[in-house]
Amino acid sequence: MTYMNKLFRYKSPYALEETNELFLKSMQENCKFQYENCEDYKRILDSKGFRPEDLKEYDDLAKIPFIPTLYFKQHTMFSMPPRKLLVKATSSGTSGRKSQMGFNFGSLYRALRMALTVGKYHQLLSWKPSHYLIFGYEPNKNNKIVFSKTAYAFTYMAPALSRSYALRYTKDGYKLDLDHLKEKFVQYSKSKAPVRTIGFPAYTYFLLKQMKEEGIKIQLPKGSVMTIGGGWKQFYAEQISKEDFYALVEEVLGIDDKHIVEFFGAVEHMVLYTDCRNHHFHVPIYGRVIIRDVDTLEPVENGQIGLVNLLTPIVDSVPLLSVMTDDLGILHNEKCPCGVESPWLEILGRVGIKDIVTCAAGASELLKED
Ligand SMILES: [Zn+2]
Repeated sequence: MTYMNKLFRYKSPYALEETNELFLKSMQENCKFQYENCEDYKRILDSKGFRPEDLKEYDDLAKIPFIPTLYFKQHTMFSMPPRKLLVKATSSGTSGRKSQMGFNFGSLYRALRMALTVGKYHQLLSWKPSHYLIFGYEPNKNNKIVFSKTAYAFTYMAPALSRSYALRYTKDGYKLDLDHLKEKFVQYSKSKAPVRTIGFPAYTYFLLKQMKEEGIKIQLPKGSVMTIGGGWKQFYAEQISKEDFYALVEEVLGIDDKHIVEFFGAVEHMVLYTDCRNHHFHVPIYGRVIIRDVDTLEPVENGQIGLVNLLTPIVDSVPLLSVMTDDLGILHNEKCPCGVESPWLEILGRVGIKDIVTCAAGASELLKED
């Protein structure tokens, strides 16, 4: 078995220190594979004077040349022929630039192992048939957005009695239909089967606010869970805090915040971050996070703010070993009452114009070497 598969079969999803050695070995394996199979990646590593053999110790992970996520949005890089890519996906970029990704069997296998281990840990796997309300896109054969794929896959964590979507596919394309989900909420609150909601917090928030204004308050059946993902960035204009959001969910749907689970991820990283009951995103064993100084790009100590650099060996069809996001974040070392010892990542939002220049410069620098 490869080290990569061994890492993704590991039983405890947050045993970070225990898996440092295995993580390093998996990264060595993946780095060598990318270097030998992806010409662009080899060129980037060569230009930075880095070779896979330079990855000797755990601390060397920070030396792997990182690739800005912006680069993936402008440039497709595969380390395998297209026939080996079973699933193709694009990020749900709002500004028109989207990352094109493709995943082979091995990558999908590891993603599945990760989803099962994490789902089990957070008690999201259940045999109880549930109704799914999805604040996202209805699947369609033309829809390659990674969100709709992950949301759909997620409806297998408990058997699905039904699936209802906020973004319904019509002959004129996707239409937002929150009233449809409102009717479903009211209908299912009278049944015994639990309800699971999945999707963008912004849509969820708009619907709940509307229901509150209309005086609709329901109690969803016991065992109902709200899962949210896709980021809070749409909230900046609304200025709502997570605490206010949790309070609204409890008031309108009768779900307390212990049954609200949030996910964080990026199509250029693929590792699933799940918040604990204290709503902290502990780093799972499948990835490592390095926070870097905005100006020097050197790693900073935990507790300090900087650019978020994400590392993982999950995918072998695309060189995603070390990617630089345009998010600012902090890695927290403080003890969390949930008992998980792995540090937790706080995302503070997108960087300002000046900092984007740093990232964009990194991306254009890579592009011009074509
Ligand atoms: Zn915690």
